[in-house]
Amino acid sequence: MDIAELLELDRQHVWHPYTSVTSPLPVYPVVSAKGTRLRLADGRELIDGMSSWWCAIHGYNHPALNAAMAAQLEKMSHVMFGGITHEPAALLCRELVRLAPPGLDKVFVCDSGSVAVEVAIKMAVQYWHAMGRPRKKRFLAVRSGYHGDTLGAMSVCDPGTGMHTLFSGILPEQLFAPAPKAGFDAPFEEADTAPLAALMREHRDTLAALILEPVVQGAGGMRFYSPAWLSRARELARENGLLFIADEIATGFGRTGKMFACGHADVRPDILCLGKALTGGTMTLAAALATREVAEGICQGAPGVFMHGPTFMGNPLACAAALASIRLLEESPWEKRIHTMETRMREGLTPCAKLPWVADVRVLGGIGVVETRSPVNVAEIQRKFVERGVWVRPFGKLVYIMPPYIIEADDLDHLCAAMRGVVEELEQ
Ligand code: PMP
Repeated sequence: MDIAELLELDRQHVWHPYTSVTSPLPVYPVVSAKGTRLRLADGRELIDGMSSWWCAIHGYNHPALNAAMAAQLEKMSHVMFGGITHEPAALLCRELVRLAPPGLDKVFVCDSGSVAVEVAIKMAVQYWHAMGRPRKKRFLAVRSGYHGDTLGAMSVCDPGTGMHTLFSGILPEQLFAPAPKAGFDAPFEEADTAPLAALMREHRDTLAALILEPVVQGAGGMRFYSPAWLSRARELARENGLLFIADEIATGFGRTGKMFACGHADVRPDILCLGKALTGGTMTLAAALATREVAEGICQGAPGVFMHGPTFMGNPLACAAALASIRLLEESPWEKRIHTMETRMREGLTPCAKLPWVADVRVLGGIGVVETRSPVNVAEIQRKFVERGVWVRPFGKLVYIMPPYIIEADDLDHLCAAMRGVVEELEQ
């Protein structure tokens, strides 16, 4: 198909994420991807700075992931999970339990990150119902958080960026504490968690759980906060009889420099949500892991089962990809790679901080962020990045990169140079 025809078809019929169908943003046709390169239909190659939204940690078209999926495809690509089990799911659940913070013994494997958050929310509600505390069904979340786009998940996203006014009346109403003030390295002050503590104390009889993204708030603002804050929040949840749900859909599998961001504070959630990099960016798959206490607790109450069961639950092809991705990750020097990436991005992006239109530059693990003072023109900035041979997709005031872990030093330097070049031109 020629490029013009493809773009016309796209314009006629295709809905893109967060995009108007009447005045759509430009889209770039990609025909293949390998390693850290996306190949455009016109033959240009771009260095990937996004890992396809946190997912493609090993780069694209990885032979080990392809081989695992091809082998599984020969056996079966899918089979229902009700009344049936299979090796890829059983092995994957064992691996997730092994890797996760201790105590998270029961795994619910579902289709996408948002669904994992819905599952976690429902688990918490059913748990308290089973414990004879049916009033405990609201959630405490943190401003600037992001947990997905389905209604339950949206209800715990930041009320402003999550468009709660637009959806008022159909979104469950939750409680929100201010976002942590202290940055990743900043000293923790008790006052920073005081509003969270006050909300918990006041509403403990109706709150089922505290939900938050440990250490890195992703799509709600790309903010990094103090592990000590996380640790205190977890403690407060326990003291006040709330379950603690850690949403590690974005942070999981090494991105922040620890296998899970909870590891920065040695925090153990009651429920852990995983997704995105779980399959190394090949297939959609997510999981909600629960402690034995939560899982068994749920099953002690009516109706005696957990009320969720998506059609593609435990999809064997996706589970096989996830198993291969975990193996690849563990066999790789990922901690060293993330550390190197962090050092190079810090060097490469910090010069942007001196520009008057840049509010902040921050780097943590494999995440590099340049925050501008006013929102960027996405179409224009994206064109400039493509002209410089890189794939970076900013949103709002956030121009950020989180490259595949396998990125070579030269490519990372090129990516950072493109960031500096494009950001420098912003105000001209
Ligand atoms: N939670 C977090 C922290 C996320 O970053 C995302 C996706 N950006 C989600 C949940 C939702 O995942 P999905 O897009 O796979 O539904």
